Amino acid sequence: ARRPAANAIIRPDFKFEDMGIGGLDDEFSTIFRRAFLSRIMPPGIVEQMGLPHVKGLLLFGPPGTGKTLIARQIGKMLNAREPKIINGPEILNKFVGQSEENVRKMFADAEKEYKEKGEESELHIIIFDELDAVCKQRGSSSGGTGVGDSVVNQLLTKLDGVEQLNNILLIGMTNRKDMIDEALLRPGRLEVHVEISLPDEHGRQQILKIHTNKLRVNGRLAGDVNIGELAAKTKNFSGAEIIGLVKAAASYAFGRNTKMGGMAVVPDNIQDMQVEHADFLRALDDVKPAFGVSEEALV
Ligand code: ATP
Repeated sequence: ARRPAANAIIRPDFKFEDMGIGGLDDEFSTIFRRAFLSRIMPPGIVEQMGLPHVKGLLLFGPPGTGKTLIARQIGKMLNAREPKIINGPEILNKFVGQSEENVRKMFADAEKEYKEKGEESELHIIIFDELDAVCKQRGSSSGGTGVGDSVVNQLLTKLDGVEQLNNILLIGMTNRKDMIDEALLRPGRLEVHVEISLPDEHGRQQILKIHTNKLRVNGRLAGDVNIGELAAKTKNFSGAEIIGLVKAAASYAFGRNTKMGGMAVVPDNIQDMQVEHADFLRALDDVKPAFGVSEEALV
């Protein structure tokens, strides 16, 4: 079903638990309230209040913590189009003018639809991953080609546009908020800033449950697997690293059930193969968190 940008509704079948997001309840509520709630108000209310919709959001925090996941799931919840995902380094192009052209293209579909349908246009969510790649740190001499500057300027032009494009929400993502050009972060631009941090123990427990669920429902997760203990032992793991842990544990289960030699020979009992708690414990030796560890060491 089509969802007009300024008059979206929440899908009736929406359930937060189905979104596959572990932890992040507060972050999700903040993002929803600040960036999306005005869009599901009855028509005219937002106009009566004289406040334009938020058109830019910045999600920042360590890699693999669910920034893209949250953005996509909110889009689904509103039945918006599949977000367009673009990536800072990919936008940069050595040919003069090409980078600005790449940014222009990002907005082209939404602009075209807004011209045709105005407020009846669908909501277009544009995810700009690794936004820091196009920003130069203040006072730094790196990135001397100036290509990044022209990309930032083009983004500002689009966000400030002569016409209000009510059907666009730009979601910038970065691991380095300090690198983002301040001009981009001002009101009317990427004005809502939400930090997505590494999950706490409760969050990790939920993420572990989500990413072992398929094993569980298919009878491939052994009864001795203690999710609580694994959550306690995965301090500083991001969601992405927890997926890495589950994969590594599964590989130990495959290994236990496979004899190698020329070609892998699969023994008869493969039908009963399950990932056991010991597989997870072994996997903990292989998968280590990339972030948060050094701060930890200082404590
Ligand atoms: P990056 O900064 O590297 O772009 P990101 O924060 O956007 O990372 P995602 O791409 O959303 O991270 O997540 C990476 C993977 O980890 C996805 O498969 C996602 O499902 C999983 N994941 C991360 N965080 C969570 C979470 N809180 N709950 C469930 N899954 C998660």
